Amino acid sequence: MNSTQIKHSLRAARRALSPGLRCFSGGEVTEDVPEWSAGSPHLAEEASLYVHWPYCLRRCSYCNFNKYIPKQNNDDIMTKCLQRETETLLQLSQVSCITSVFFGGGTPSLAHPSTIAAVLESVSRQVNLSHDAEVTLEVNPTPVGMSKLEDYCRAGVNRFSIGVQSLQDEHLKSLGRDHTSHEALQTIGEARRLCPGRVSVDVMFGRPKQTVESWGTELSELLRVCDDHVSLYQLTLERGTQLFKQVQSGCVTVPAEDVTAEMYQCARKTLHQRGFHQYEVSNFTRRNSVSHHNMSYWRGKQYIGVGPGAHGRFVPLGEGGVVREARTQTLEPDVWIREVQQRGHGTRRRIQLGHLELLEEVLVMGLRMTKGISHKHWELFSPTQGLHKVFGASVDVQELLQSGQLILDDRGLRCSWDGLALLDSILPALLVELERQTLQMPHTQFADGQTKTISNPR
Ligand code: SF4
Repeated sequence: MNSTQIKHSLRAARRALSPGLRCFSGGEVTEDVPEWSAGSPHLAEEASLYVHWPYCLRRCSYCNFNKYIPKQNNDDIMTKCLQRETETLLQLSQVSCITSVFFGGGTPSLAHPSTIAAVLESVSRQVNLSHDAEVTLEVNPTPVGMSKLEDYCRAGVNRFSIGVQSLQDEHLKSLGRDHTSHEALQTIGEARRLCPGRVSVDVMFGRPKQTVESWGTELSELLRVCDDHVSLYQLTLERGTQLFKQVQSGCVTVPAEDVTAEMYQCARKTLHQRGFHQYEVSNFTRRNSVSHHNMSYWRGKQYIGVGPGAHGRFVPLGEGGVVREARTQTLEPDVWIREVQQRGHGTRRRIQLGHLELLEEVLVMGLRMTKGISHKHWELFSPTQGLHKVFGASVDVQELLQSGQLILDDRGLRCSWDGLALLDSILPALLVELERQTLQMPHTQFADGQTKTISNPR
């Protein structure tokens, strides 16, 4: 591969992992069933829904998410606009059933429970919200967040994702978190009481002053009290954040790359010993309590993104085809509110995904799962070129197969245990081969190979 090819491939990987794809938890895994295919219009009828609450009380030192400190309380306006945009985007799609809803942010546990209820009512007014749909809310484990958990359940939430991040108060403080480890433990306890088996915790490694040993001890402590789902996050230094500046100026140091790699492996082993099954790069579950919402992203299903900065992928209604669009909503809340009030939604950008781009997303997202991509699943999106045909002849891919990082067999394509930790370095070879093979394909009904930006958002 030359450097241009590698750069292109990494761009494709980043595009597929675009913001808005946050990690959440929920329900039981079912075997691969036909979900939707690029060429089957009726399978454009199901989607998941992501709702973004953009406000936080303060900025964590490492965070580059789309969040704002509110100047005034505009919860009522925000609620009405979230409802209106939900209704508009559902009307613009071919979706007739929402299978999961995720309220992320920002800090959605700052929203009033009536906001959550109102958005869910809007969904139900437009489409079928399945009675067993997973409805997850991200919670900051502050006393205020904890006090509202019961009301959130009454509003329709049946799963909580709690941002614990650390059990060391000194670390929480230096990261700018607005809770203590004691409050986090109390929130986990209350969430488990309300939604037993449906509580996920987020925990972060690679933090300043963290060692592999202290991380192992901390994780073991957390596993003693947590429920059946854990999401691991490696702290990444994002340009423009306070932490980035502190590290640049030398007043804070973070563990080196080889140390964070060791922390990841230490966590995988610890979780495995405690009965947790890894089902995705960062996600672990006991008793099959996986995140249905995230599984729908990793399986390439449609999703609708509502709220400032949210992303979506769905087939629009009435534009004569089955081409999926990537939609991005306006980032800044005040501007987004004005746009929703004027035209029913705040879509800033619509891009028609070409066949190659769709396959890139299926590949990049699918290989995050330990099960990888089955032949049946791949053929939903690529009916004429199976996995063996696309990847089997590539010298670079063969090297990955021989090294044992990648597996291509009668089950499909997936990473080995070692390979999953190296996914970022495996993807470029696969993406280059995918591009080469796809561009050689005869024209199919949905292959345009082009990205089209639609300048006049509908
Ligand atoms: S609470 Fe979450 S979204 Fe808000 S600043 Fe902290 S990390 Fe970012």
